[in-house]
Amino acid sequence: MGEVRRVLVTGAGGFIGHHLVKYLVAKGYWVRGVDIKLPEYEPSPAHEFELLDLRRFENCLIATRGVEHVYHLAADMGGIGYISSVHAEVARNNTLMNIYMLEASRINGVSRFFFSTSACVYPLYLQREPEVRPLREEDAWPAEPEEGYGLEKLYMEKLCQYYREELGLETRVARFHNVYGPLGTYDGGREKAPAAICRKVALAQDGGEVEIWGDGEQTRSFMYIDDCVEGIYRIMHSDYPHPLNLGSEELVTINQLVDMVAEIAGKRIRKRHDLTKPQGVRGRNSDNSKIRQVIGWEPRIPLREGLVPTYRWIEERLRKEGRLSQTTA
Ligand code: NAD
Repeated sequence: MGEVRRVLVTGAGGFIGHHLVKYLVAKGYWVRGVDIKLPEYEPSPAHEFELLDLRRFENCLIATRGVEHVYHLAADMGGIGYISSVHAEVARNNTLMNIYMLEASRINGVSRFFFSTSACVYPLYLQREPEVRPLREEDAWPAEPEEGYGLEKLYMEKLCQYYREELGLETRVARFHNVYGPLGTYDGGREKAPAAICRKVALAQDGGEVEIWGDGEQTRSFMYIDDCVEGIYRIMHSDYPHPLNLGSEELVTINQLVDMVAEIAGKRIRKRHDLTKPQGVRGRNSDNSKIRQVIGWEPRIPLREGLVPTYRWIEERLRKEGRLSQTTA
């Protein structure tokens, strides 16, 4: 591959992008970060950070100048409440960013392009039961993805394939399954289940109640952020050009997730289930056979272990915001 020194991370103001910038800087790369916003909770260690709206082609040309590798993580996204309510905006924003980033990378002679897609590309008809069969890469077709967000990701996976096959841009594609960890959004409507539950438990009193979306028997697997950035790097540097799952195989119900967080917090927590709230697919898990086979690695950090720093970080943030009362602090 030759020695690559200069890389671009888009979405560098976001949760995974920011962690990836830190990881790449620590590995000795020169990193340009691009986003429409700065990282919220700590400064970016990127050598250069540019505030650019990647829905504009000319900005994608600016972002990709003089770099060899592009990690394209920027996306309009959020938790299930968000992505199930704004299909038009999410699909439009991500379509524009994705196609312009691919084309700008090609024009600027980028040698490798990483795209973060999602477990939301998998067909809904395979995810109707909590005892779900783990999803294999080939299950994505015939397609019935999540409306808006998932459909757009699936389409971009194909564009990456076409650009690689016909236009000579090496592309790598990873389907992330629920990522969590410190510095992730924990409030405001775009947060995901682990962060939302950590926040609710931190704000509850011992013996208090938290609201759970759905009956809590929906199942998921969750990947700790350190596994995610390492997986991104390994997939980017592998020879395998087709989409790969990047997720944990440790399946839990949302009720079990709440129990784990309550135990970490040292609180007795009662669950109040709100059946009117969106809960997404009934069950979803990653099948890691392919990544084990082609990369010889898979995410390994147990959920219970990764939740400890995540909970502590969210609790600390809430304390700084003055939202923990004396009794809960
Ligand atoms: P995030 O929202 O924290 O980061 C995405 C970043 O993209 C944000 O900082 C946002 O400002 C930026 N962005 C949005 N619109 C932009 C624009 N027009 N121009 C420039 N930047 C823009 O989300 P994340 O969790 O860090 O996700 C990173 C990637 O991983 C995304 O592609 C997402 O679809 C994918 N993904 C994440 C998860 C997860 O569990 N976090 C799961 C599946 C896939």
